Amino acid sequence: MSTTILTGGPIRTMTDDPGGDLSGNLSGDAQVPEAVLVHDGVVQAVGSLTEMRRAAYVTPEEIDLDGRTLMPGFVDAHAHTILHGSAIDWVDLSGARSIDDVVRLLGARAEARRGEAVRGYGYDQSKLAEGRHPSAADLDRVARDRVVQIQHASGHGYVVNTLALRNAGITATTPTPAGGRIDRDADGEPTGVLFDSACDLLTGAEGVKVRNHGPNFHLPMTHAEIDHLFDLGQRSLLEAGITTMCDAQVTQLEMDAYLRARDEGRLRMRTEMLALSSNLEHLTGLGMSSRLGDDQLRLWGVKLYADGSVIARTAYLNGHACCGKPSPNGYLYHEPEELAALITTAHRLGLSTATHAQGPLPIGVVLDAVAAARAERPRTGLVHRIEHCGFPTGEQIGRMAGLHVVPVPQPMQVSLYGDSLMEEFGEFGGRFYPYGEFERAGLPVVISSDAPVTMPNPLEAVWAAVTRETLGGAISGEEAQQAGRANALRGVTVTPAQMLGRQDIGVIRPGARADLAFLDADPVTVPVGQLPKVGVTESWIGGERIAPIQVA
Ligand SMILES: [Zn+2]
Repeated sequence: MSTTILTGGPIRTMTDDPGGDLSGNLSGDAQVPEAVLVHDGVVQAVGSLTEMRRAAYVTPEEIDLDGRTLMPGFVDAHAHTILHGSAIDWVDLSGARSIDDVVRLLGARAEARRGEAVRGYGYDQSKLAEGRHPSAADLDRVARDRVVQIQHASGHGYVVNTLALRNAGITATTPTPAGGRIDRDADGEPTGVLFDSACDLLTGAEGVKVRNHGPNFHLPMTHAEIDHLFDLGQRSLLEAGITTMCDAQVTQLEMDAYLRARDEGRLRMRTEMLALSSNLEHLTGLGMSSRLGDDQLRLWGVKLYADGSVIARTAYLNGHACCGKPSPNGYLYHEPEELAALITTAHRLGLSTATHAQGPLPIGVVLDAVAAARAERPRTGLVHRIEHCGFPTGEQIGRMAGLHVVPVPQPMQVSLYGDSLMEEFGEFGGRFYPYGEFERAGLPVVISSDAPVTMPNPLEAVWAAVTRETLGGAISGEEAQQAGRANALRGVTVTPAQMLGRQDIGVIRPGARADLAFLDADPVTVPVGQLPKVGVTESWIGGERIAPIQVA
């Protein structure tokens, strides 16, 4: 039971209390507290150094911030720890510009790790000179005697080599499962490209099956392999100062991995879990009528998928006049009635929901379902979220505010993909993740990474929400869609904490957990353009510095 005083640098409490520093004043000269007293993992008091010394029961250890800024540990409202670990461990294909590049990069790994399956992450066929997905035949050039498997940048699909197709028993006679896609050649032979529920075929007899409930990014892996990926993903999130995360797709594989990590003492982050809707029947059968868990690991709610991915151009923009173009590859995971029934079931059960929805039509389906569920049973303690929420109409944004439906976007995607969206969809494309409109409607500004879809760097994401600057130097949607800086900083701390129902994190105030991020510059006062460069020098959880994590 240690008692610590932290002092010697700006302390950004992220509270609106008097003495807090974000009540609209961003000039940096607002009253900032001088010191924080931490006892037994909890913030005891915030104020002057003299007051903190007086308030301590025992002689405290005093830690000099030495000019560093102290903030609450960041809260990432939507990320995927194990998948993020995969992206770190597997061959990075995001820079590949041709299929030869893909083969060469994988070949180097095959050489370096003999006997192991060769896995890659993040190819984007639209960036490849050939303008098509690689095929099994292409991957056979890497290896024929072991599995070669690469994941699409969207996380929604894989390409596998001939051996992997054979192992999975996928042939010309394999029917295409509902909610999935198996690309075939002129003779009906599978080409190696599998998307969404078709990936169920790759996970083996014992593996996770998600049916038409979302993308299946699971693979047959040993516990040791999964734990290794978990450790890599968790280390990366912690190094970014993220002390609480919400895992946005938990199936048996993730649940099992989290419980194992907790039991073995490897789980450090506070983790809120969203169980994939394919498990809803099991949750009902189990009598899950509320959140379950503790301070560190908790089942928070249910994750549902309405439509596809904006990056893969499979989001359902169909029939929407504003985009000016049909979206021939857009698809829905469920018929609208089926999705509505799933949301209603979760709400009746007592579980919050988070539904992936990008296009106006699927967003409308979610809003109708939430409105009906709330009318039947208000259950004000339940939160309903829309993950990503790429292209809501102005009218839908108003409805979201009225229904307390929280949008959870990833602003770094505006920076990374804003140019191509504006090129393709004009003004409609510039409205991607319309933070300015969310703000004006009174909706909370929540910022997340969807790691590994974008890298976990909360202050870079704040920069992206505030500037909406694209790689090409344009401003997506002009100034009207930019988020305010104070709200954006809340969006990686107190706002997602409150959305998750946690009053004890995301802020530095008496009674809060001492989950802290130490920063080498003050994100309230540095020039906006410097935000992505602000470094995290230390992360604390429950009053303890997280030592560098060794990954076996
Ligand atoms: Zn996600």
